[in-house]
Amino acid sequence: MPGSLAKSLEKKLKSIVGETGVILDRDRLLAYESDGLTAYRSLPMAVVFPRDTIEVSKVLGLLSKEDIPVVPRGAGTGLSGGALADDRSVMVATSLMNRILTIDSDNRIALVQPGVINADLTEAVSPFGLYYPPDPSSQSACTLGGNVAENSGGPHCLKYGVTSRYVIGITVVTYDGTISRFGGFGRELGGYDIVGLFVGSEGCFGIATEIEVCLLPKPEGAQTLLAIFDRLEDAGKAVTTIIADGLLPAALEIIDGPTIKAVEESIYAGGYPTDAEAALVIEFDGIKAGLSADIERTTVHCREANARDISTAESEKEREVLWQGRKKAFGAMGRIAPDLLVQDATVPRSTLPDVLRRISEIGQSYKLVVANVFHAGDGNLHPNILFDRSDPDEVERVELASKEIMAVCVEAGGTITGEHGVGLDKLSYMSLVHSREELEAMQVVKRVFDPKGNMNPGKVIPDLSEDFS
Ligand SMILES: Cc1cc2nc3c(=O)[nH]c(=O)nc-3n(C[C@H](O)[C@H](O)[C@H](O)COP(=O)(O)OP(=O)(O)OC[C@H]3O[C@@H](n4cnc5c(N)ncnc54)[C@H](O)[C@@H]3O)c2cc1C
Repeated sequence: MPGSLAKSLEKKLKSIVGETGVILDRDRLLAYESDGLTAYRSLPMAVVFPRDTIEVSKVLGLLSKEDIPVVPRGAGTGLSGGALADDRSVMVATSLMNRILTIDSDNRIALVQPGVINADLTEAVSPFGLYYPPDPSSQSACTLGGNVAENSGGPHCLKYGVTSRYVIGITVVTYDGTISRFGGFGRELGGYDIVGLFVGSEGCFGIATEIEVCLLPKPEGAQTLLAIFDRLEDAGKAVTTIIADGLLPAALEIIDGPTIKAVEESIYAGGYPTDAEAALVIEFDGIKAGLSADIERTTVHCREANARDISTAESEKEREVLWQGRKKAFGAMGRIAPDLLVQDATVPRSTLPDVLRRISEIGQSYKLVVANVFHAGDGNLHPNILFDRSDPDEVERVELASKEIMAVCVEAGGTITGEHGVGLDKLSYMSLVHSREELEAMQVVKRVFDPKGNMNPGKVIPDLSEDFS
């Protein structure tokens, strides 16, 4: 059972956010017991739904006086346990802060509340010929606030860069309720880059309550190619040679055999052949005149890497279907097993064939199905381990396999997360890639924003009192 909020505090919170803006009963709290990484679960003491910066400030002001930890939450699609709150903590959810405040099409910027859903922003600016480039595969659900906190990427971030490239200003409420505005259009004033510091801070510095982003004009055209491989390693080789040749696709994604089967059996079927070991989805965008030449060069690389079949999407409809197969792949995996551990690591692109082979061997040695669907162009792997949580032996094998996969990626010169953040899940891996000095420096920075350590506690920085080398 969750801890209970004092009646007097409940009353004060309701006086700020309204009667319906506070959730306390267990049945409704259950919806907030985990994020997208369902291996971790715990019920918060309460969930509060402010509607704007002032309400967030008042709510945090109240909670900080009582010394109650706070966990920000967007849509809860995070995959590292970042939005998890225990029963001594109050979750501050941004779902009612979902207004697009301004669209300045002349200057190609927008000011949004953090609960705006990523895809809704692109839809809203589309009539102006603009779009918001970072496109996590969860973009139909995840929020801009969550994207900022995780510095999220997506298939098209190979060419266009991740969230930090697009956030130019931010309004932040820190734990004691202080409201600060950093950066903003025309306010490149010199000094330290606090906006850059806040992006990727995983909800540990404060709550972003308004976010100013820049937008791009929609590309004139796009061409999408599908290459089918009988061996996953060959798809990895094609990725290496395409990039080494100086080509810059907008997206370069690998979907492996088990994932293809799951997608093709689902309503998201994209027409991928189910006997293939890998499909490579490659998209070029930009000025129409240059696209065919890029596609031709890419086709040569795929053939040389033993692609058995290469086709291009002939219409916008076909392109959408291809992308649907890729973007909904995680959802489709629910058909294979009741539980899924989505790993996230990044390796140098040139090591992809070797790392993919080793991941497959690890899966086999632990008798686990590992399905890969990932941003291959960035070397950003997502080995997804499928399992059944009700089988303790399988859960133990998942943990061991997961650790081994992470060690292989680090050994290959990679790192422990590409885009899903550290959250709770990657705490024990931090010492694999950071020295004690680096972690202490991070802790010092956190204290500047959050001296009491009550903002999303227990995330990102491991316990430094423990001995690690
Ligand atoms: C099917 C699927 C596909 C995915 N694909 C991708 C992908 O392609 N690329 C990618 O990068 N990620 C991907 N993700 C992961 C996830 O969608 C992103 O991390 C996303 O940015 C999380 O947004 P959210 O609104 O759901 O945040 P939540 O999960 O609610 O929170 C994530 C973190 O942000 C913090 N937070 C939320 N709002 C705020 C705020 N306003 N201020 C401060 N901190 C805040 C939370 O405390 C938490 O630490 C995927 C997830 C799923 C389930």
